[in-house]
Amino acid sequence: MSSQQEDGDTHVNVADGIDHQVAMVMDLNKCIGCQTCTIACKSLWTEDGGSEYMYWNNVETKPGEGYPRGWEDSGGGWQSEDHSERQPGEIPSQEDYGRPWEFNHSEIMYEGSDEPLRPREGAEWGPNWDEDQGAGEYPNSYYFYLPRICNHCTHPSCVEACPRSAIYKREEDGIVLVDQDRCRGYRYCVEGCPYKKVYYNTVSKKSEKCIFCYPRIEGEGPEGETFAPACAEECPPQLRLVGFLDDEDGPIYKLVEEYEVALPLHPEFRTQPNVYYIPPYAPPQHTEDGETVDVERIPRQYLRELFGDRVDDALDTIKREKQRARQGDDSELMELLQHKNPAKQYRLEVFEDG
Ligand code: SF4
Ligand code: SF4
Repeated sequence: MSSQQEDGDTHVNVADGIDHQVAMVMDLNKCIGCQTCTIACKSLWTEDGGSEYMYWNNVETKPGEGYPRGWEDSGGGWQSEDHSERQPGEIPSQEDYGRPWEFNHSEIMYEGSDEPLRPREGAEWGPNWDEDQGAGEYPNSYYFYLPRICNHCTHPSCVEACPRSAIYKREEDGIVLVDQDRCRGYRYCVEGCPYKKVYYNTVSKKSEKCIFCYPRIEGEGPEGETFAPACAEECPPQLRLVGFLDDEDGPIYKLVEEYEVALPLHPEFRTQPNVYYIPPYAPPQHTEDGETVDVERIPRQYLRELFGDRVDDALDTIKREKQRARQGDDSELMELLQHKNPAKQYRLEVFEDG
């Protein structure tokens, strides 16, 4: 299903029939879990009836159950590397996503109650329920935040799952979209996506998902300026890079293809995601007396479960380049990770004329 482009311009695999592939790199070492990205996305795209429960962008604490609960064990994706057969998946229940909670606003505001503001009964699960819980034992417990959007995969199993070809990969940039006129709400795409990043709208009875803010990247500014997706633009620590994977002069290409330090989440699902992560490198463990112990805080095996075995080389490369930079040597990788060239952070207009 995918091919190496034959025009000699790029060494990146993009899907058959796709001109260029949008991509995003998120540096997990900078995420503070503020959910600004979540709210930026929600207020832009999913405030209408039937989409209240949806978070096209969510940020979950890892280790943790995530959103929807247990999505990593819900099936979907592909059975083999040749993408010939899909892996069966499950459709999450509404409880797994979490229902909106009711709060005791009326008692507090109109009935003089001096109770604290709190959800009424029934608040037993919701997105981000296990925030900051993490794992491990004091003084070496650990957690980190994982922001997630649709990966606009090169081999999207959601596309293959739809019997009406209502979900498709856009030719010009590889964005995966649901054609609302064709969709009949069968939810095969929800079942087929291993990341559970397609959602069913209970009012329109159709599926919806992240659209990579395509009106913004197409140039919705007054002068036709392009804007990166809202989740990226609004992020306080500016941890997201946005551009095209096959833009060989861009930082995304360098981080993914050259330095190989930006990795897809759960590569074993075989959809070949186009959202990549710089894995977290936490400080080492220490004793109760505060003495540093030469043991990694986040178990390496857990990071392998999330990002595959390539995480070992990625962390080694980052460690080596950090050391070089500390010694005063030039390190292109450290400059890229520090966004020393903010003009390159969002590179969306590179292929406009070609
Ligand atoms: S993350 Fe899921 S919804 Fe998005 S393209 Fe991949 S398979 Fe489809
Ligand atoms: S806005 Fe940025 S820092 Fe805040 S949760 Fe989202 S990705 Fe993390």
